[in-house]
Amino acid sequence: MQLLKYIQSQGIGSRKQCQWLIENNCITLNGEICNRPKADIDPAAVRSLEIDGEALAVVPMPYFYILLNKPADYETSHKPQQYPSVFSLFPDHMRQIDMQAVGRLDADTTGVLLITNDGQFNHRVTSPKHKVAKLYRVTLKHPADEALCATLKQGVLLHDDNETVRAADAVLEHPHTLLLTITEGKYHQVKRMVAAAGNRVEALHRSRFGGWDTQNLAPGEWKFIEI
Ligand code: URA
Repeated sequence: MQLLKYIQSQGIGSRKQCQWLIENNCITLNGEICNRPKADIDPAAVRSLEIDGEALAVVPMPYFYILLNKPADYETSHKPQQYPSVFSLFPDHMRQIDMQAVGRLDADTTGVLLITNDGQFNHRVTSPKHKVAKLYRVTLKHPADEALCATLKQGVLLHDDNETVRAADAVLEHPHTLLLTITEGKYHQVKRMVAAAGNRVEALHRSRFGGWDTQNLAPGEWKFIEI
């Protein structure tokens, strides 16, 4: 891949700006200054990228996959209304790149959120057909017993929805803590299921999405992952 194309793909600036940076010795790849825009480089071999000596997170090409431990009070949207966007948690240069969240978490929900530029992957793992399991730790307003788990596993009718949704699994860890696994991703699904079963969600954390957990990332931390 041409160096100029690669630098542009990293969200660093326009073609003209990238060309200027390259020709003016501002770009260092793997510790070496690269000043020929047409130089042929292997994106897979890029381990480090600096601009004017400042290290940037290298965005894997052509597709990247990010695991974010979403903090509370961030919106899963490019156009947030009340809270900052989850995309504001990434460095500026990455925000120029097409980044899509894989499904949404509510502003007050924390935990595993995948982010990618791979539309096919996104579609595949969010499609109900593929039944990707999502595990939520639900803090309940009212103490619950096994009857709540039985109701959720049997299926509940969501308000404004004429389909019954069933939990793939529901385990009460504590009278106020429910571990709920679902395989769809309907709007506010967990909150609506718990409400339909006569309780209320006080706090919601997604501990697992498919095979991915938060991997000890602190809230707001993220990392590139291999798929
Ligand atoms: N279900 C919800 O109600 N909210 C979320 O953020 C995710 C699942």
